Amino acid sequence: MREEERVEMVRTQVEGRDIDDPAVLAAMRKVERHLFIPDSRRKEAYADRPLPIGSDQTISQPYIVAYMTELLRLTKSKSVLEIGTGSGYQTAILAELAEKVFTVEYIASLSGEAREILDKLNYRNIAYRVGDGYAGWPEFAPFDAIIVTCAPDDIPDTLIGQLAEGGRMVIPMGAGSYQELMLIEKKPGGKVVIRDLIGVRFVPMVHS
Ligand code: SAH
Repeated sequence: MREEERVEMVRTQVEGRDIDDPAVLAAMRKVERHLFIPDSRRKEAYADRPLPIGSDQTISQPYIVAYMTELLRLTKSKSVLEIGTGSGYQTAILAELAEKVFTVEYIASLSGEAREILDKLNYRNIAYRVGDGYAGWPEFAPFDAIIVTCAPDDIPDTLIGQLAEGGRMVIPMGAGSYQELMLIEKKPGGKVVIRDLIGVRFVPMVHS
């Protein structure tokens, strides 16, 4: 039943819009989104909207997860840094597509719960860190891709610094409850190109 809901979610909400990367679609069909959602909201797991996951945080709408993931152009030889582990759902999608995922979460309990589910699902290519995403994860930089799922007022220079040449970063940016989703490309040679894509709604990226 849930598998049918998931296939339908991908067909109508993801493929039915503008996502056509076969690997992204396959990952979205495979990862059991309902496992990342608290019991009280599980019935809504495949709905076309974000949902609360506790600690005042939310799991993003499926379409937004797909859209941001597709922009990263991940392949099995790439590393990706994620800021904002949250429920761990986006982390699982990344782990399906990349060689290695480094995920940073500010709230220890959320990181722990996400890790528990992802360990149970047997993901072995994810490294977890509890800490402040503004610092990135310097020990493992540079990353081929960076995805930020909370919104800073400004693009953190540290994260641009940890992006590999030829790498791509997606990040919602702006103060207040609406932001712009930005795509940042670091070209070979180091030139940084920034594009403003769509309006989005994320929780703020908190300062420690
Ligand atoms: N990708 C997540 C979305 C979680 S919401 C999912 O699919 O569920 C955003 C997350 O960013 C929250 O869990 C929040 O605690 C975290 N966050 C906010 N500010 C942060 C910071 N400075 N560093 C790391 N994580 C942060």
